[in-house]
Amino acid sequence: MPAVPQRTGVAVRCVNVVQIYTTAGGHDVVALRGVNLDIRPGEQVALLGPSGSGKSTLLSLFGGVLRPSAGKVIVDGQDISRISEAELGRLRSGTVASLLQGAARNLLPYAGAVENIEFARRAVPTAVRRRLLPATELLERLGLRDLADRPLVGMSGGEKQRIAFAAAISSGAGLLLADEPTSQLAHDDRDAMLELIHLVNREFGTTVVLVTHDPEVAQQMPRSITIRNGRIGSEGRHGFDFGVVDEDGTVHIPDDLAGRFPAGMLVRFEPTDDGVLLVPVDEPGSDDGGHA
Ligand code: ADP
Ligand code: MG
Repeated sequence: MPAVPQRTGVAVRCVNVVQIYTTAGGHDVVALRGVNLDIRPGEQVALLGPSGSGKSTLLSLFGGVLRPSAGKVIVDGQDISRISEAELGRLRSGTVASLLQGAARNLLPYAGAVENIEFARRAVPTAVRRRLLPATELLERLGLRDLADRPLVGMSGGEKQRIAFAAAISSGAGLLLADEPTSQLAHDDRDAMLELIHLVNREFGTTVVLVTHDPEVAQQMPRSITIRNGRIGSEGRHGFDFGVVDEDGTVHIPDDLAGRFPAGMLVRFEPTDDGVLLVPVDEPGSDDGGHA
């Protein structure tokens, strides 16, 4: 077995990232409004947040599919807004593995897992391909040997998704991006997919960023980041949720407390021995009582 079959994990960093889409109608949609983020090599991160908050946009930036409207996205030490189209192409085919929604639909249905992996590898430069694990060995390492010889037609949705996963990571990428990889799966298949993701992270050091709506999936990731309205809302570590102070000093009020702090409310910061209290104040001149 080759000593270093896959590359090790790559780092991702965002500095004040802004993404603006111009729609066909000519108006602008601000999808990301100043994202600051550091993901270290080999980290496993879940992205959470309501629909439309900017999660898929962030993944597209990490994958070199989009260039940011402003700010920097640095993947594996390369600022993707500054590199050439050719370098961006190498990033997409070699450094990053994307498991997008509906990935199983893009597999070759009448072929087996081995052919699908070989097909997925066709964009990988030959010199790199020669250093990769052969498809059968990769399947073996992933515990998917029993799927190797069957055609995809007749496989269950969960089995196809596992093949899609194997095909996605088969380029030896150091960064795995997965958009809702478990959303269509039943419990057992979901757990099997998560186990595969953790396995690749452990065995090859692959950095993992996955988008999920499933709190149970997020809980199994050592770090979770909640995106709210195009910014980092909060971060979770091992099940505990924390606010994050942004570069401009802003901190989001957590969802469960937001009702007590309506927009425009005046607050006072009251230092205590071990922190700071956020105290709503009555507006000077107003005669109604406290808001909290
Ligand atoms: P999420 O994945 O969290 O649901 P997205 O990143 O898909 O969020 O979208 C963030 C915002 O950007 C939404 O308001 C969405 O409508 C908008 N958006 C996403 N893609 C495009 C696009 N190609 N053109 C215009 N607006 C877009
Ligand atoms: Mg999305």
